[in-house]
Amino acid sequence: MDLISIVVPCYNEEESMPQFYKEVTKVLKTMSVEHEIIFVDDGSKDKTLAVAKKLHELDSRVRYISFSRNFGKEAGMLAGLEAAKGDYVAVMDADLQDPPSLLPDMYEAVTTGGYDCAATRRTTRKGEPPIRSFFAKLFYKIINRISDADIVDGARDFRLMRRKMVDAVLSMKEYNRFSKGIFGWVGFKTKWLEYVNVERVAGQTKWSFWKLFKYSMEGIMAFSTTPLYITSAMGFFVCLVSFVLACFYAIKALIFGDPAAGFPTMVCIMLFLGGIQLVGIGVVGMYLSKTYLETKHRPIYIVRETEDDE
Ligand code: UDP
Ligand code: MG
Repeated sequence: MDLISIVVPCYNEEESMPQFYKEVTKVLKTMSVEHEIIFVDDGSKDKTLAVAKKLHELDSRVRYISFSRNFGKEAGMLAGLEAAKGDYVAVMDADLQDPPSLLPDMYEAVTTGGYDCAATRRTTRKGEPPIRSFFAKLFYKIINRISDADIVDGARDFRLMRRKMVDAVLSMKEYNRFSKGIFGWVGFKTKWLEYVNVERVAGQTKWSFWKLFKYSMEGIMAFSTTPLYITSAMGFFVCLVSFVLACFYAIKALIFGDPAAGFPTMVCIMLFLGGIQLVGIGVVGMYLSKTYLETKHRPIYIVRETEDDE
């Protein structure tokens, strides 16, 4: 029988975990597979670890990994994927926003359907502030235009992958991890299953607008160097404009004598150029900072304890 590993990154999810466990095992029981559930406690401040330990005591197929502090969901997913022993590995949120009822269809797609991966996307963003949906849509438009990785709008991290694909994902050792991009970049045949957005069962979302903004910038920088080209193109464009302007004023002065009172023009041009230079330096700086972090080769997460320690 195949072994399915379910990786669940958890940050302050004590309320949702028991329900998650119940629902998922109920679905897995109907499938003829072996399974393991790996809860990755991402430095939670509530009783997430205690709940995971209790579930492990009740059911040895539940495993857990606990981080020394909060490293973010990306780190949690990576730790889970590295620990997973399954022939197939799924990533799921603990809040039941990823419906476990899709698992049988996903399993069928990767076993008999000829796919390497079954991924999910939600077709609506119900229960989300409209402004957040607007910026999310904008982000997907931009990143798809400027990067090679195929990043699907509304795609969740909820997916079931064959071992081959998991190994490919793990072979990408980068420090700045943007999973949506990594999954797209490694390729493989992916079947997309759609569902209507479900609101979380308990607890609160861990993503503030600012956190999402930073995450989206990281995504763009990790999978595209286009902003660097845009900066250069902008510099080139401004040079051209200034050259044309210079010619224009020179000819004007030659024909009409008295040069135009130039102070306002000067101020505008200086501010414009100053602004563009700062933006340019900022963009270069962002890439440089990412490179700096990559070259340090810091671990992406640090484990404090796992079920093996018992
Ligand atoms: N999560 C995590 N570390 C974090 C933030 C979130 O492991 O720093 C987990 C969280 O416990 C949940 C999943 O990532 O299982 C998705 O988070 P959330 O539901 O808050 O995001 P949303 O569904 O609102 O996008
Ligand atoms: Mg959620």
